[in-house]
Amino acid sequence: MARDLARFAEENSIKYFMISFTDLFGGQRAKLVPARAIADMQEDGAGFAGFATWLDLTPAHPDMLAVPDPDAAIILPWNKEIAWVPGNCVMENKDVEQAPRNVLRKLIAEAAEEGMHIKTGIEAEFFLLTPAGDQISDEFDTAAKPCYDQQAFMRRLDVIREISDYMLELGWGAYQNDHEDANGQWEMNWDFDDALATADKHSFFKFMTKCVAEKHGYRATFMPKPVEGLTGNGCHAHISVWDAPGKDAKTNVFAMEANDSSQTAELGLSEKGRHFLGGIMKHASALAAITNPTVNSYKRINAPRTTSGATWAPNTVTWTGNNRTHMVRVPGPGRFELRLPDGAVNPYLLQAIIIAAGLSGVRSKADPGKRHDIDMYAEGHKVRGAPKLPLNMLDALREYDKDKGLKAAMGEEFSAAYLKMKMQEWNDFCGHFSDWEKANTLDI
Ligand code: ADP
Ligand code: MG
Ligand code: MG
Ligand code: MG
Ligand code: MG
Repeated sequence: MARDLARFAEENSIKYFMISFTDLFGGQRAKLVPARAIADMQEDGAGFAGFATWLDLTPAHPDMLAVPDPDAAIILPWNKEIAWVPGNCVMENKDVEQAPRNVLRKLIAEAAEEGMHIKTGIEAEFFLLTPAGDQISDEFDTAAKPCYDQQAFMRRLDVIREISDYMLELGWGAYQNDHEDANGQWEMNWDFDDALATADKHSFFKFMTKCVAEKHGYRATFMPKPVEGLTGNGCHAHISVWDAPGKDAKTNVFAMEANDSSQTAELGLSEKGRHFLGGIMKHASALAAITNPTVNSYKRINAPRTTSGATWAPNTVTWTGNNRTHMVRVPGPGRFELRLPDGAVNPYLLQAIIIAAGLSGVRSKADPGKRHDIDMYAEGHKVRGAPKLPLNMLDALREYDKDKGLKAAMGEEFSAAYLKMKMQEWNDFCGHFSDWEKANTLDI
């Protein structure tokens, strides 16, 4: 039985619900609904004019309703009279197929039909900037190798500690926090979970981090490359597949069996894990349109060396063992890490595209190809035959458009809407006159 939100409000002294949904560009949209109205809204959903958000709808479309998923409600730890609750978008009694949470739910159901339950953990890196967003908030955070900087950490302890406390309170299994590889950059880690739960937590983490940073007079950004020359914001995903969802999961399907002597055996990846990875490798250039969705994303991947010495981001479609210079790393038995996604990734589409590509790989018994155990940054030129990742957003969108299998797996309606809206964004960007053009063209 799903949770009754009216009763939940009474029991927890909740005054308001923030009914939220995520649009194609990853923006979270919400209505603040007083508890007195939640019983009806739980049935019918909160109404939105879809065209007013980044969805491929017109002003003439009927109302879109975000129907709250009651079991996913989270009481804001910093404002306990309000509960955030992600909604599923519905129009005229039908799921809106292009809505990201619906895309993910459909793929999770498809995988479940084949006995596969995807569990993932994500690492959503972010910067703490000044309120205007044009500088790192800590003027003393200037070290050439700032990663794990203990002293700089203490100067932002109030923010990081507060967010960490909240994650502990929410029972997410928070386990570490650090100053990351760029000046002003942070990472906070919590335990992996079922793909939908991770997507909801990812969304809530971004919301919470921005709120807490603002409260302390800073601005948190997940933008892929907010500061030129510094390491960008990645959003690595760690992936495994289990025999059941939630706490019923007993067997990690990706963990190899004792008698497995395949090529990946020494990395502890099963045959199924290998095929799933094969799907990710096969569709990599196309799925970048989702995992690296913005113009700015392509300033993180394929980037020149940063001031810290390495970008920590991939440039080529390659995989390896415990080595952080490749697109995919197998850090230990039974899981792999996709290092491609960045901070701009839509939390729901990230999980959806992993499942879509992985399922395609399992169904076609895809081979991930040869493993490369080299330093890609130093010796990448020696690798023959591995595709380079797209160089910009347009390349990525074209790759996605060409990948008929992946487009169908994500849903034709979603794929058409996504490509249309993203092409509009690309054209808008191309119409923008930049300082670079003047600096390089004025006197020609
Ligand atoms: P690193 O920085 O070394 O890449 P982190 O510790 O920052 O790793 O993040 C690792 C993430 O992977 C965490 O969210 C963790 O819960 C998750 N993870 C660990 N084991 C698995 C697994 N079997 N399946 C999915 N995710 C996992
Ligand atoms: Mg109105
Ligand atoms: Mg990490
Ligand atoms: Mg990191
Ligand atoms: Mg990582």
